[in-house]
Amino acid sequence: MATATETTIAQKLEALLKLQTIDSALDNIKKVRGDLPEEVRDLEDEIMGLETRLSKFQQEIASFEEQISNYKNSKKDSDKLIVKYKEQQMNVRNNREFEAISKEIELQGLEMEIADKRIKEIDFKVLNKNDEIASVESTLFERKKDLEQKQKELEVIINESEEDEQKAMKDREKALKLVDPRLFKSYEKLRDNARNGLAVVMVKRGACGGCFSSVPPQRQTDIKDKKKIIVCEHCGRVFAGVEDVIPPPEKEKKSRSKAAVSAPAAPAAE
Ligand SMILES: [Zn+2]
Repeated sequence: MATATETTIAQKLEALLKLQTIDSALDNIKKVRGDLPEEVRDLEDEIMGLETRLSKFQQEIASFEEQISNYKNSKKDSDKLIVKYKEQQMNVRNNREFEAISKEIELQGLEMEIADKRIKEIDFKVLNKNDEIASVESTLFERKKDLEQKQKELEVIINESEEDEQKAMKDREKALKLVDPRLFKSYEKLRDNARNGLAVVMVKRGACGGCFSSVPPQRQTDIKDKKKIIVCEHCGRVFAGVEDVIPPPEKEKKSRSKAAVSAPAAPAAE
């Protein structure tokens, strides 16, 4: 029975490369989604902020309206008092009483004037606040439209890739079990630091597959031997092996040239 300690370097590298392949696929899925998830979150936050502001403004309007109705009530009270005072004036016994009541009537009149002035001031505040509400509402409308649009886009993209993502995540779990824990630590660190998310690379056409620095032939031989873990001198990425020099463009060229040949070849065969 093979134990962990018996795992060869070649097996360790193979496990690590497998993990890298899966992680790169997952990176690609995230790249396709791009900034959309973040944009959706930002919009949701902004909408929440706008809605809070709107409800604050509406509370302010309610409070203004309450103040106005209080002033209107006190105007009614003053009106009633004036009617009452005028009746009293009919029954005064002397001039002094008449004058005293006149003063009261005058006072209530002043109260009513002040109330009117206040009502006008508050009406003006209500008008301004309503303008603010209208502006917030129109921004809110726009943002909600944006959000709906972005959510739809994101949904489509997620739907397209969800299956792939879930499969990759499952594969990743399996692959991870075979990876040497210490190697995994460096792998994670390398991936964090690498802009392209590559921690494990192949030597491709004599160069590091991560940073494209050339790898000397002797070093390539060592890498092929897989007797020890070898990392790129320039970027520190782990070399999983050396890609065989059967460059895929050759195949492409062949199929292309075949297509190119078959066209003129047809009339020739006739
Ligand atoms: Zn490198």
